[in-house]
Amino acid sequence: MSKSIRHVVIVGGGSAGWLTAGVIAAEHCADRESGLRVTLIESPDVKTIGVGEGTWPSMRDTLRHMGVSETELVRECDASFKQGSKFVGWVTGHDDDSYYHPFVLPQGYTETNLVARWHARYANAPFAHLVSFQPHLCDQGKAPKQAATPEFAAVANYAYHLDAGKFGEFLKAHCTEKLGVAHMLDNVTGIVPADNGDIAALKTASSGDLEGDLFIDCTGFAALLIGKHYEIPFISRKDILFNDAALAVQVPYVHENDPIASQTTATAQSSGWVWDIGLPTRRGVGHVYSTAHTTDEAAEVELRKYVAATAGDSAAAGLSPRKITFEPGHRETFWHKNCVAVGISAGFIEPLEASALALIEFSAAMIRDDMPANRGIMDIAARRFNETFRYRWDRIMDFLKLHYVLSRRSDSAYWEDNRRAETIPERLAELLQLWRYQPPSRRDVNQIEEIFPSASYQYVLYGMGFEPENHGTARRSEDAGVADRLFAESEQLARKMLAGLPTTRELIDHVKQSGMPRG
Ligand SMILES: Cc1cc2nc3c(=O)[nH]c(=O)nc-3n(C[C@H](O)[C@H](O)[C@H](O)COP(=O)(O)OP(=O)(O)OC[C@H]3O[C@@H](n4cnc5c(N)ncnc54)[C@H](O)[C@@H]3O)c2cc1C
Repeated sequence: MSKSIRHVVIVGGGSAGWLTAGVIAAEHCADRESGLRVTLIESPDVKTIGVGEGTWPSMRDTLRHMGVSETELVRECDASFKQGSKFVGWVTGHDDDSYYHPFVLPQGYTETNLVARWHARYANAPFAHLVSFQPHLCDQGKAPKQAATPEFAAVANYAYHLDAGKFGEFLKAHCTEKLGVAHMLDNVTGIVPADNGDIAALKTASSGDLEGDLFIDCTGFAALLIGKHYEIPFISRKDILFNDAALAVQVPYVHENDPIASQTTATAQSSGWVWDIGLPTRRGVGHVYSTAHTTDEAAEVELRKYVAATAGDSAAAGLSPRKITFEPGHRETFWHKNCVAVGISAGFIEPLEASALALIEFSAAMIRDDMPANRGIMDIAARRFNETFRYRWDRIMDFLKLHYVLSRRSDSAYWEDNRRAETIPERLAELLQLWRYQPPSRRDVNQIEEIFPSASYQYVLYGMGFEPENHGTARRSEDAGVADRLFAESEQLARKMLAGLPTTRELIDHVKQSGMPRG
């Protein structure tokens, strides 16, 4: 049981596989004789899912630690800069219905209760626009940094929009050429079990048995090791989040130099919503919906209508959407014996707020940091991992459901069903009661590495017009003064940045031509 962990084998070469390989290999020196061996095996026949184009700001740190060049990322992955999400039509569905969830925290977030002052004095102003400069940048298609800002550094916090297929290829090249990850193209056909129930080796179609000490299942929906071999139960969460299908398309810009959106736009539909992600050379658009509430045909009509409205009738006519179906949910546990699941094999729910790649990054980072020295202590790492990720999945469920619970739309059974009490997680229902009297705070989501900070809850809650009952007045007059100062600071920052920052399109063109200074 005290065998050293020397060889990590990752099965699957999608974003989960390559991100996990890179994160572990960079830290554990897979390129040196003395380091950990990291091997990634992927099927030459099973394609990667090929979607997943919106990321979180955490991706900057993840890639920087792996030694990636941000300039190359922009050039090779058709990447652009993302500063948050804009939600259109989620509250009433009327023309003026939109709000932002930006990446920047409210100005002076921890200094005072901004919500009380906003509600008492400025309730007609959109909350995010009052407390943060970032929605103003997004409104004008501005970049989050200047041409002279070094790689990975930011003027305004940002993440990426990128081409998922190109990202996989880019990571593969980096991991194999720079980080010492060994790459095998072969089908895994079975498992050679060890006496203690561990996986001793993988059987492959043409390369014999592949032995390892720790096996990471990144096989996507196949869930080859965690699901098929270990039969770890899958917990469906469809009772909370109904969406279980998506139609994805790539939409060309009308003119090559059209502005690139600085945020993901999520536009509510009758039984789901449409994502719209702007890359430098095209947009990635898709309709995610509930098959219990609409048909594929009706969902496609709504998708085409959206594309026609944003790119013209001819763009909409030429589309052939790709359909993806999924059961929303996750495994009961993620790390079992000497096998840990990362990515879709661990679970997947609809891409609202784009948390899937972030979960992959957090999973890879925890495996990297808690990499057991030997088999004897692996079960401790496994228990900690399972506790952490079960908590994270539950918080993701809460946060995503919040977007639906607060909607006032009544134009379809989908929106009404989404507000039914029995579909709302207990903890979220409790917090919603509390938030009538006090704004979301760090006490509500109090782990050190929370997936969504309390500021995110505030942006969604007040963006969607949640009415507090009695924290409408600042408790002390000096609090009101502090809040007013912070609102003024935020406005000044917005003005300064709007004048000083290039547009996202201008910055991307510059990076393609001249690169960014290395940090
Ligand atoms: C509609 C939709 C939209 C999404 N949008 C976003 C988004 O905006 N942001 C975000 O963060 N995430 C998003 N996601 C999720 C994101 O796409 C995934 O989390 C991410 O791509 C990781 O996928 P993966 O690597 O786990 O699986 P996959 O990409 O499916 O890779 C599976 C790998 O396993 C290999 N494999 C399978 N069987 C075998 C075998 N027997 N032997 C060897 N290899 C095998 C395959 O060859 C492949 O390499 C979205 C997902 C969907 C469905």
